[in-house]
Amino acid sequence: MKTTLGICQRKKRFETEEEALAVVARAEVTLRPYRCPLCRRWHLTSRTKGMRLPRFERERRAPPPDAP
Ligand SMILES: [Zn+2]
Repeated sequence: MKTTLGICQRKKRFETEEEALAVVARAEVTLRPYRCPLCRRWHLTSRTKGMRLPRFERERRAPPPDAP
């Protein structure tokens, strides 16, 4: 994903992925946190194509590995 400096400065910034994921979990729309190559912090995007699923969504979809 191409991140411009303008987008970086306009976007909300999170210090940690956990902080960003906390917002994603509460959001009504689908968001993905991503590591910004410019500020090295986390932003959110609604563009999910090619983005990996956050851990809590993977766990929600996949059964636990030790399920019978
Ligand atoms: Zn940034």
